[in-house]
Amino acid sequence: MQQNTGPTHVTTLETFHPEHIYKPEEFAPYIGDARVEALKQTAAPLEGKGWTNVNSTLIGGGVAEILSSAVPLALGLGINAHWHVIRGNDNFFQVTKKFHNMLQGMELPIGLEEIFQAYLNTIDENAKNTFIASDLVVIHDPQPAAMVMNGLIFGNILWRCHIDTSAPSEIVWRFLLPYINHCAGAIFTIPEFIGPGLQIPLYQIYPCINPLAPKNRHRSDQEALSTLDSLFSAHGVDPERPIVAAISRYDIHKNQSTIISAFQEYKRRVKPDPAPYLIFVGNTASDDPEGGAMLEKLQEQADGDPDIIFWVNVDDNDEVVGALMHLARVFVHVSTKEGFGLVVTEAMWQGAPVIGSKVGGIATQIAHGQTGFLVDPLDVESIVQRLDYLLTHPEEAQGMGEQAREHVRTHFLIPELVRRYMILMQYYSGLNSEAPDFRLNDLSYSEVLSLMRPVPPFLQG
Ligand code: UDP
Repeated sequence: MQQNTGPTHVTTLETFHPEHIYKPEEFAPYIGDARVEALKQTAAPLEGKGWTNVNSTLIGGGVAEILSSAVPLALGLGINAHWHVIRGNDNFFQVTKKFHNMLQGMELPIGLEEIFQAYLNTIDENAKNTFIASDLVVIHDPQPAAMVMNGLIFGNILWRCHIDTSAPSEIVWRFLLPYINHCAGAIFTIPEFIGPGLQIPLYQIYPCINPLAPKNRHRSDQEALSTLDSLFSAHGVDPERPIVAAISRYDIHKNQSTIISAFQEYKRRVKPDPAPYLIFVGNTASDDPEGGAMLEKLQEQADGDPDIIFWVNVDDNDEVVGALMHLARVFVHVSTKEGFGLVVTEAMWQGAPVIGSKVGGIATQIAHGQTGFLVDPLDVESIVQRLDYLLTHPEEAQGMGEQAREHVRTHFLIPELVRRYMILMQYYSGLNSEAPDFRLNDLSYSEVLSLMRPVPPFLQG
C-alpha cells in the first residue's frame, strides 16, 4: 500500500513560521519525565503525518496564543504541523464578530447580504488559491468554518469551537450547522457548550498555556518590577500599593464594566489604606472590530479615577502581562460568557488568586475557595466581598495562588493539548481503533468510519 507522505499545501493564506521549535524534553521541568515520555510515545507512530490548523488571526486572543505554542511543539515531535490564517476585510470581521456574539446568545439583526457578501464571498476569495491535504485539518471557530465546504481541503477535518455555543442564536447556528456536520468531528471545551443538531463525533479538549512562553515563565518580584518600571513611571503607579489586575480584549462579554463598578464600590465602602490600583491591560485583536469603542466606554465609566489605569496594546506585551499577573494581589475575570478564559489559566500559573465568574470555562478552572473564588458575573456585592477578603488576607490569598498553579500544572499545560490532538490523529489515521477517552458522544466506530473523509488515493505519495 502506498504511504501518505504527509500534507500538501498550496495556499496564499497567511502562514505561521515558528521562530523556535520545541523539543518535548524542554517541558520536563514543568510536567516531569514520565509525561514527556508518554507524549513522545503517542507522537512516535505519527512521524511525518500532517496536522494543519486554520483560524482568522495570527496575533491576539486565545486561539492565536494556543497555536503559537502547539504548532512548534508538534513540529518538535516530528509532526508536519502547519497554521494558516484566512484574510478578511472590515466587513468580514464585523459579520464574524456578529456570529461570535450571536453564537454566545446575543440577539442581533443579521441580513442575507451580510452572510453572502461579507462572509461567503470572503471565504470564496480565501478558498480560491487554497489547496490543503493533511491527515488532520482543524478549523478553528466560526470565521473560517465555511472553508470546509468551499475550499479544497482534503483529509479528516475537525471543527474546533472555542466559544460558548450552548444556547446559540438559531439563525447563525443553523447557517453554520451544515459546515460543521460536514466535518469528521468537532471539539468543544466543555460538554455544556455543545450546540443542538450535531451528527458527528464530538471531543473535549481544554485550551492550555505554554510554560516556556515569555508570558508564562516564572519570575521574581524584582524581575517583574523591573519589567513594569517604565509603565509604572508613565502612569504614576506606586509599586508599594496593591494591584488588582484585569487583562483581556475590550469586549462586551468580558464585562470589564462590572469590575469598575465593584472596584469603585469597594473603595467607597471600605476606604482601604493604601488604596489598591485597578490596572486593565487590553489589546485589540485584528479579528475584533469592537475593541476601540468598548475601551472608550470603560474610560468614560472610570471617570478620571486615578486608581483605575488602562494599558492598551503595550510594547513587550507578553513580558508585561506575565509581570503584572505575577505582581497582582488579585486577578479579576468576570466575563458574562467565556469559552475558557486563558487569562485565568495564565494568572493562576503566575500564582495570582482569581475572582472569576461562574461561567463556562472559567468555572472549570477555579475550585471555589481553593484556587480562587467564583461569583455571578453581574454580582457587584460578591466581587466587593471577595476583593476585600483577598486584599486583607495575604497569606490565604497566596495559598490559593499556589494551589491554583498546581491545578494548572496538572490540567492546562500545552503538552496535554498536543497529546490529545496526537491521539485524534492516531484515531483518524486508523492507527488506533479505540475512541479517545475524551470523546463526548457515543457514535459507534463504524459510524465514525463512514463519516471520515480520508486523504484520497491520488494525493497519497
Ligand atoms: N492578551 C494579551 N494582551 C492583552 C490582552 C490579552 O496578551 O492585552 C492575551 C491573554 O494573555 C490570553 C489571550 O490574549 O493569552 C486571551 O485569551 P482568552 O482565552 O482569555 O480570551 P479571548 O480573547 O480568546 O476571548
